[in-house]
Amino acid sequence: MAMQQFGKDESGAGIKVNEVHDLTRIERIGAHSHIRGLGLDDSLDARAVSQGMVGQNNARRSAGVILSMIREGKIAGRAVLLAGQPGTGKTAIAMGMAKALGEETPFAMMAASEIFSLEMNKTEALTQAFRKAIGVRIKEETEIIEGEVVEIEIDKPATQGAAAKTGKLTLKTTEMETIYDLGTKMIESLTKEKVSAGDVVAIDKASGKITKLGRSFARSRDFDAMGPQTKFVQCPEGELQKRKEVVHVVTLHEIDVINSRTQGFLALFAGDTGEIRTEVREQIDLKVAEWREEGKAEIVPGVLFIDEVHMLDIECFSFLNRALENDMAPVLVVATNRGITKIRGTNYRSPHGIPIDLLDRLLIIATQPYSEKEIRLILDIRCEEEDVEMTDDAKELLTKIGHETSLRYAIQLITASSLVALKRKSAEVEVEDVSRVYTMFVDIKRSTQFLIEYQDQFMF
Ligand code: ATP
Repeated sequence: MAMQQFGKDESGAGIKVNEVHDLTRIERIGAHSHIRGLGLDDSLDARAVSQGMVGQNNARRSAGVILSMIREGKIAGRAVLLAGQPGTGKTAIAMGMAKALGEETPFAMMAASEIFSLEMNKTEALTQAFRKAIGVRIKEETEIIEGEVVEIEIDKPATQGAAAKTGKLTLKTTEMETIYDLGTKMIESLTKEKVSAGDVVAIDKASGKITKLGRSFARSRDFDAMGPQTKFVQCPEGELQKRKEVVHVVTLHEIDVINSRTQGFLALFAGDTGEIRTEVREQIDLKVAEWREEGKAEIVPGVLFIDEVHMLDIECFSFLNRALENDMAPVLVVATNRGITKIRGTNYRSPHGIPIDLLDRLLIIATQPYSEKEIRLILDIRCEEEDVEMTDDAKELLTKIGHETSLRYAIQLITASSLVALKRKSAEVEVEDVSRVYTMFVDIKRSTQFLIEYQDQFMF
């Protein structure tokens, strides 16, 4: 598809945003894909099991109060710290907050150690993370052409998993006849809409998206079908072009990347965006401010989640302090499982390894270890999420393992044991499969024990 520009200015330096909505956001079964919200009721109390969330009631309630503050715009320049042992659901709660804020609210997640990369300096990495968590809701007017499909020819029809390669579509109105060479995108939208010859369609000139309008639409618009053979629709003058408002949300980071001369929008797929020049960002910020003033765009502050925040150093912490002052700042949620420890880059010790001035801005939510009953409920949800059938006895064993080692380790054994069960052609995971993977993959405790016993055989 050709590069499109949104908004033109006199200098001709339009800011591009259109490519972004072509990116498909693939939903995978990730570690937190079962989390669909915080599972709170109307009075912000935590339901025992809801929206994929189990237990951790106090923390969920507090997160809910913060959400209400965010919704009322009362959390500007503030941040939240989730503090608790490993695997107590800190990431899950941050994810739940983002989900509860709505589908279009951006949620960016990073581990603090990611910023120590050779490719990019620390503040650039943090700037990118902040901009990934700031959405811009853009209202756009597009030009739509309406007409009837006369002919569709697709060389290789799209089948599941394999998209068609080429094709041709002839669209006819009384005023024109256009033959479109179909790209994969158009074929996808054709197959999705199930358009066949004779249908009345609208084609969005900008994106190539095809929308089926249906017969009733044609009638209501006084289109006069000229008999079944002629197969085209008479379109009254002035009705040929119709404007339609389209709203989409992109993040500031996505706009940065597609406008960065060195990168181009393909970098968004690779995730390898490199550094973005300050001038590009300044230009984009100006443009977005202009769109906001003209009522064309709104800022959607999202959630930036930084895990293992104790890994940040003093320079990063001062960056965070400053970044939170920005009026577009997302809600910053940081998490750590550390107690009193050294602040990186200094010789000072501080609670959670976070400088006192930043700590002072944080609302702190503590997470608690899970009971066996809660572990069992989380494992039930994960089995369902991963489509794994497991006997009650096997779940019981996995729960014990989770209680004695870690929840995360037990969750990982679900997929592994289902593969072992499959290998012996059983559709259901049984105790023997769980025991088998328990011996195949060691947890941290056993791995440490092993290292202690055989330390002289390892390199120093
Ligand atoms: P760490 O300190 O090691 O980063 P964490 O506190 O962030 O750990 P999570 O990654 O959130 O822990 O939890 C481990 C796994 O358990 C994840 O798959 C998460 O989705 C799931 N989980 C944790 N708590 C809950 C909960 N209350 N309800 C449902 N699932 C949960």
